[in-house]
Amino acid sequence: MNEYEYNMINLYVPKLAKIINIKQESPDSKLFTLQYQDKSEFEFTHGQFVQIGLFGWGEAPFSLCGPTTEEKTFQIVVREVGDLTKRIQKLTKGQTITVRGPFGNGFPMDKFVNKNVILIGGGCGFVAMRSFVLDHNLGKFNPKNKLQIFYGCLNEESVLFSDELKAWKKKIDYRIALMKPSPKWRGIKGVVTKIFEKVKVVNNAVAVIVGPPIMYKFVIEELTKKGFADTDIYLSLERRMYCGLGVCQHCAIGSYYVCKDGPVFSYSQLKETRGAI
Ligand SMILES: Cc1cc2nc3c(=O)[nH]c(=O)nc-3n(C[C@H](O)[C@H](O)[C@H](O)COP(=O)(O)OP(=O)(O)OC[C@H]3O[C@@H](n4cnc5c(N)ncnc54)[C@H](O)[C@@H]3O)c2cc1C
Repeated sequence: MNEYEYNMINLYVPKLAKIINIKQESPDSKLFTLQYQDKSEFEFTHGQFVQIGLFGWGEAPFSLCGPTTEEKTFQIVVREVGDLTKRIQKLTKGQTITVRGPFGNGFPMDKFVNKNVILIGGGCGFVAMRSFVLDHNLGKFNPKNKLQIFYGCLNEESVLFSDELKAWKKKIDYRIALMKPSPKWRGIKGVVTKIFEKVKVVNNAVAVIVGPPIMYKFVIEELTKKGFADTDIYLSLERRMYCGLGVCQHCAIGSYYVCKDGPVFSYSQLKETRGAI
């Protein structure tokens, strides 16, 4: 879609999308595969999000997580936390929801050229990273560039995309830390930063962090200790937002709107912005 076509679309008007498939990913999260009711194509960039809504219940932002091979469907993961997400989780195959977007700037793909990439995800934040991981595994990027993943989760059950991991691990240095694992767990125990104590971080890399706000400060500290420049650290912020267009101002932070200027920012952009991290 060119810029002219994009500007002709009223971004406040949602489109209807049909639920093509639903998969339980963890006890509180479901993966929804969606398709516009008019079967039109859907394009997005890694790290972007959509506003998903139900008439009478409002809208909320959800990260796009795939697929990367099929232009007519798109996927989101919804974790049940409140009213809207509870309603969305009750939907069944064939029912419709509203979609606006995709919104946001997405991952800084131009910065990934000739660089290794380390993705550091926490809980549901890992959803935003999955489409990039899929593309990496399909060989869409320079094969010389390595991908390393540090993923922090609550326990074995809460690990998202667990049935894709076997395939991922063949091409990716994938590490996981569980905060409350079962007694059978032989891997790293604790918060995601524990992984930094056990695993060598890939060099000449750009880092992207997506997760609960508490995690950012500690992960940035670890990356800085390893010599990462502020300009090589990117964060995706989750802020309450409504319009997705930089109009309602709910997601304003300093001089930025998370929905429009983000959700992905470099650490150098946010370092001096009060309340960002
Ligand atoms: C860019 C972006 C991407 C997101 N991607 C995903 C995703 O892929 N999957 C997913 O399940 N959720 C994602 N979220 C969070 C999701 O939007 C919220 O969980 C949702 O708005 C909750 O709506 P609710 O009505 O069910 O809950 P509410 O009743 O509104 O709130 C329930 C709880 O969720 C918290 N909450 C509400 N809105 C947000 C928010 N925007 N960010 C963080 N916490 C919030 C509230 O503080 C409260 O504790 C994303 C948020 C943003 C901003």
